Amino acid sequence: MSNVKEILDSMKSATDDDARVIENAYLFAEKAHVGQTRFTGDPYVKHSLQTAKNLAEFGMDRDTIVAGLLHDVLEDGHATAKEIEKEFGRRVFFLVEGVTKLGKLKYQGVERHVESLRKLFIATAQDMRVLIIKLADRLHNMQTLHGHNREDKQKRIALETLEIYAPLADRLGMGRLKGELEDEAFPYLYPQEARRVKELLKERRQANEKYLSKFHRSLQKELAHHGMKNVHVDYRVKRLFSLYKKLVRAKSDIEKIYDITAVRIIVPTIEDCYKALGIIHGAWRPLPGRIKDYIALPKPNGYQSIHTTVFTGDGGIIEIQIRTEEMHKEAEFGIASHLAYKGGMGKPRKKGENLPKNVLWIQQFIDWQKHVSETGEFLENLKMDFFKDRVFVFTPKGDVIDLPEDSTSIDFAYAIHSDIGNHISGVKINGKLVSLDSKLKNGDIVEVTTKKGSHPTSKWMEWAKTTLARKNIRVATHKPAQKTKFK
Ligand code: MN
Repeated sequence: MSNVKEILDSMKSATDDDARVIENAYLFAEKAHVGQTRFTGDPYVKHSLQTAKNLAEFGMDRDTIVAGLLHDVLEDGHATAKEIEKEFGRRVFFLVEGVTKLGKLKYQGVERHVESLRKLFIATAQDMRVLIIKLADRLHNMQTLHGHNREDKQKRIALETLEIYAPLADRLGMGRLKGELEDEAFPYLYPQEARRVKELLKERRQANEKYLSKFHRSLQKELAHHGMKNVHVDYRVKRLFSLYKKLVRAKSDIEKIYDITAVRIIVPTIEDCYKALGIIHGAWRPLPGRIKDYIALPKPNGYQSIHTTVFTGDGGIIEIQIRTEEMHKEAEFGIASHLAYKGGMGKPRKKGENLPKNVLWIQQFIDWQKHVSETGEFLENLKMDFFKDRVFVFTPKGDVIDLPEDSTSIDFAYAIHSDIGNHISGVKINGKLVSLDSKLKNGDIVEVTTKKGSHPTSKWMEWAKTTLARKNIRVATHKPAQKTKFK
C-alpha cells in the first residue's frame, strides 16, 4: 500500500511480516482518527504516518514504528487500551501508553503538562523508545507548526521544543534531530535573528564554496599520497541555531567562527583517524589550541571525532572533523543507533538495570524528581539541572562530573558528596588556587579541599546553581524553602 511504503522504504530491511503488521497499524490508526483533521487541514492520520516515518529514519525497530502510528489513538482518537493490547501486544501498548498525556479532566494547565512530563520520563526509564517516539512526534509537530492559527501557541510550543525537547535529543546523542528541532523552533522565537543568521550563512557559504572545493581536492590528494584511499571526504554547513548561539558567544564577531563550514573525513578505523590527523598537520599548519580529541575523550553524550582547524595556505582557515563510519552514525542518530543495531536496549528494564552510560541521567532524573513537588519549581529546576548547556569537568582522578553551565566548585563538591559540599574550604582549578565562586569551564580539573570547621553560608546560595547544592545549603543554613514562581 502506498501510504506505508514510505515507512517500509525508510527501514533498513523490512520483512513481509513487518509490512503486514505496519499496514495493519496504519489501518487501525486511520480508523481511530476517522473524521479528524489537524490544524493544517490534513487528515489526522497523516501526522501518525509522518511520526512513524521519522522513527524509521532514525533506524528504530518495528514495535516502535507501530507505536508511532498509534501514538495519538488513545489521547485524540477513538481507540481503547484493550484494543491496542489485543491487536498489537503488550509491548506496543506500553509504548503508546507511555507517550499519552494524562487525562484532561483530572489535571489542568501547567499541572497537566508537568505531570505528563513526569509520566513520560518514568516510562522512559523502563523503555527508552518511549522518549524517542515523543521526539519523532515533536519533530513533525514543529514541521507543521506554521499551520497553527494562534501565535501565542506557536511561541509556547517552539519555546518548549527549544528548552526541553532539543536538549533531550542532545542528551541522547541524536545530533541530527537536535539540530532539526532547534532550527524549526528558532524563527518562531527570534524571527529577526533567524532572518539575519540565514542571510549571513548564505553569504559565508558562497564565499567559502570556492576555496572549500579546492581544499577538498588537495586534501584527498594528500591523503591518497600517503596511502589513505578508502576515505570519504565531504563537508557540512553549520546549522542556523547553532551558528546563532555561537555568534552570541563570540559577541557577533563572525570572523572568529571557523566552523561555519567544516570538512568531514570518514575513515574505516580509529587508527586511520590519527593517521589522517598526522598527514593533515604535516601538510597544513594547525591553529594552536584548536585540536580536540573526542575519540580519546568522548563527549558525555557519546560524541566521538577528532577536530582540528588549519590554515589552508591561501588565506582560509578551516575546521576538519575526522571520524569512523560508526562514530558518524552515532553522532547523527545517537542512542537510536544502539537501539537498532545492538539490540536488547529497547527491552523493558528494571530500575537502573544496565542503562548505557550516556543515559544514566534518566535514572538520576527519576530520583531527582521525587524531591521536587511544586509544579513551577519542577519546570525551572528541570531546565536548570538537566537541559541547560552542560560543562564537563574532571576530578583529580579523571572522573567526569557533568554540571549545568555557570556551575561553581560548590556545585561540583555537592555533586561528589554532600559531606564534601558541606565542608568545602578551598578549590584549585587546573592546579591554581581560585575562589569558591569561580565558574567552571569544560575540561577543568577541579580539586577541592575540606575543613571540619568550614560550613555553608548564605553567600554560597548565590554561587550554587544546581538544585542538589541549593537544597543542601538551604538545610545547612536553616533557610526556609524559597518558592520559585512559574513563568
Ligand atoms: Mn502526535
